Amino acid sequence: MRTRPTMSFRSVRGTVKDPPGPDALLSAFLSSLSVDAGSAVAVLYSAGTRHFLYWLDRQGIANGTLDDRIVQQFEKHRCRCHGYSAQEAPYKADQAARVRRFVRFLEDQGYVEVDDGIDDLPRHLADYSDAIDRLQLAHGPAQSYRSEAEHFVAWLRVARCQWIDIDDAVIDQYAAHDCRCPVWRKRGKLVATGTKRRRRCARHFVEFLRGRGTIPSAEPVADDDPHMSAYLAWLRQHRGATDETVQRYRAYIRRLMPMLGEPSRWDAAALRNALQRRCKETPGSASLLVTIMRSYIRFLVVQGECCPALLHAVPSVQRYRLSTLPRHVDPATIERIIAACPTDRPVEVRDKAIILLLARLGLRAGDIRDMRLDDIDWQSGHLIVKGKSRRQDRLPLPQDVGDAILAYLAAARPKAAEEHLFLRAQAPFRPFRSSAEIAGIVARTYDRGGIEGVPTGSHIFRHSLATNLLRAGAGLESVGTILRHSSPETTAIYAKVDLPMLSKIAQPWPGEPSC
Ligand SMILES: [Zn+2]
Ligand SMILES: [Zn+2]
Repeated sequence: MRTRPTMSFRSVRGTVKDPPGPDALLSAFLSSLSVDAGSAVAVLYSAGTRHFLYWLDRQGIANGTLDDRIVQQFEKHRCRCHGYSAQEAPYKADQAARVRRFVRFLEDQGYVEVDDGIDDLPRHLADYSDAIDRLQLAHGPAQSYRSEAEHFVAWLRVARCQWIDIDDAVIDQYAAHDCRCPVWRKRGKLVATGTKRRRRCARHFVEFLRGRGTIPSAEPVADDDPHMSAYLAWLRQHRGATDETVQRYRAYIRRLMPMLGEPSRWDAAALRNALQRRCKETPGSASLLVTIMRSYIRFLVVQGECCPALLHAVPSVQRYRLSTLPRHVDPATIERIIAACPTDRPVEVRDKAIILLLARLGLRAGDIRDMRLDDIDWQSGHLIVKGKSRRQDRLPLPQDVGDAILAYLAAARPKAAEEHLFLRAQAPFRPFRSSAEIAGIVARTYDRGGIEGVPTGSHIFRHSLATNLLRAGAGLESVGTILRHSSPETTAIYAKVDLPMLSKIAQPWPGEPSC
């Protein structure tokens, strides 16, 4: 059974209500805590609160302006308050905690002006709690997401931080804060948490609020240079570029700029020279550089800052499909990698199933990331793979791959309401977001099994499968079918791995030689 948030966290703007007299205020406070009047706890709370009220009065501080800074001053004050100076030092921290709770009570009652810049926080917290339910996490993690959301809300309020100002820096501050937040439930304090969990949970809650439009999305990538800023905004608006793309484009353009100078003075020769020099420095990214350069010139043309004809001055990059050999490893090494997969922990059971899918079926990382539970037809022993295009392929499920997936489903897959077959092993048990996570799994599998000298990345399995099948005498066409290549040319890349193999599949040239 989980508990609902107990605090109201409402915003109080403009004029605040005047609280009743000290006695009425104190008894209202004690009843809000549901402690019995006359009990030891009630005595402690009364003493602390009375002391605080007395001190506030002496300092001339109005209730409506209370905040944590004032509580800290109270905590540190050299007590000369009449009748209270006998307080023992060891109780000081407890006393400050009680005072903080009292301030929260005043805030909740509307006696203190607080404006978080957000309305209806209790509703957002309740909806968030429901959203966490839908993730079907285990009790512990679910509870810590809920209580951290509440903790974050309480901390923001204590810090008097506006919700609109939340960014990574604020979340980092929260993660590292020395917690004295007034967060209590009926049965004691909220779940205690460390820095990492605080950061993760706060981000999760903030993303939830951003997702429903309650608070604005993260600041887009900006630049000090107004001209560059305008270009980045244009990229985002007119080209629908993601932040990642925008960052990459900016880095490329920045490196090109010093070589080119003012756009108004550009000419075709200068452009070509700059591009050629950059391409020599990083040959692998030549075609990306050309794409980025064209996009930037298009922007300049729209702005009227450069001549439209320059667009044609950017040369095309000739791509030689067959210029590099695919890396591959021999079948014995593949078997050694599979044999070295431990299966002691759930995450290892998952990783072995993934390695087998890569090795036996040559799936792409994206295929594994996107795989759904109902993509496997256990009756007929087939697997549906959607692949790069929208085309669906049915692949036979080899015995050991099927066994490994079954082992994962039976004992290792988190009980989460997700359609994806493979989920992350840590809560919230989400599907993989990127193919790079599959490459990470491959790397960790090598580490666990002590495998060295094998190229990294998940594609090595695909390359190896193709090469090894061809070497074992399989035809190009059947290898192409297994790898689900849409064009036989792609499969042919693997055939150039060695010349004897190439000669075997070489076709006689049709017709007479022309020379
Ligand atoms: Zn005092
Ligand atoms: Zn705290």
